[in-house]
This record gives sequence, structure tokens and C-alpha cells, in this order.
Amino acid sequence: MIEQTLAIIKPDAMAAGYADAIIKQILNNGFNIIQKEEINLSKEEAEGFYAEHKGRSFFDELVEFMISGPVTVMVLEKDNAILAWRDLMGATDPAQAAEGTIRKLFGASKGNNASHGSDSATSAAREIDYFFPKTCCSH
Ligand code: ADP
Ligand code: MG
Repeated sequence: MIEQTLAIIKPDAMAAGYADAIIKQILNNGFNIIQKEEINLSKEEAEGFYAEHKGRSFFDELVEFMISGPVTVMVLEKDNAILAWRDLMGATDPAQAAEGTIRKLFGASKGNNASHGSDSATSAAREIDYFFPKTCCSH
């Protein structure tokens, strides 16, 4: 089934100049990039985006990281996009991520792991709507 998912190139990868290489991988893997915007998240936006993690030990660190510099937010589309993008990113911890994945190639640590991807259809609908209202399938 053709799906859409939300991808973010996180501040570490942006600052290191990896954005173009990551976008190249996305396109090489057959995704269509149907929305793309470089933005600076406010603290409130980052907290709201990661609301499911509020109360976790790493929450404050995560929010500070996500507002530390610009990010690129994208809507990706292809068959099975949600799982396909999670697979291409690799495991949350770059040390555990498979060879050739974005987090393995461009991530430095469990926190600074270069990219975000929606983890389910429900998350994808919410996250796409969070940055690109009226784009996703839920409308
Ligand atoms: P994923 O991004 O793979 O879906 P999670 O939803 O579990 O992973 O976590 C969201 C983000 O929070 C991670 O991508 C990472 O940047 C950060 N994070 C998760 N766990 C930790 C941790 N133990 N220490 C520091 N940062 C973390
Ligand atoms: Mg997650």
C-alpha cells in the first residue's frame, strides 16, 4: 500500500553537512519526497512533537538537541513507506544499526542519531499533520 511517513534530518546531521547524502539515499531507495522544509523548532514544538516521551530520562536532552540547530522535515511516500523508512534509518542506537543504514553511516550516539521516522500509521498521520497540515492521508 502506498503510504506517507514523516522524516526528519536532525540537527547533528544538518550541522555535519550530511543532509544531501541522506536525501540522495532517500531518493535512491525509491521514496518520493512530497514535502521538504528546513526549519528551526521552538522548544514548544519539539516538546509537542515528542510528547509520547515526556517523563523519560532522556526527554530534556532530546528537546535541547532538537532545538540546537535547523532540521529538515520531509514527507516521504512509497509502498510501505513507514516500515521502509524505519528500515533505511536503522536502529535507534547507531551502534546497533545495520551496515549501510542512515543511523549507522551518519549517527554518533543513541541521542544524536541523525534522523527521525514515524513508527506507525497513527504516528505518521499525527506527525505529518504536525508540520504539514492538510498533507496526509488522514484528511
Ligand atoms: P526512534 O527515534 O528510533 O523511534 P525513540 O522513539 O525510542 O526512537 O526515541 C526518540 C528519540 O529520542 C531517539 O531517536 C533519540 O534521538 C532519543 N533517545 C531515545 N532513547 C535515548 C536514550 N536512551 N538516550 C538519549 N537519547 C535517546
Ligand atoms: Mg520513536
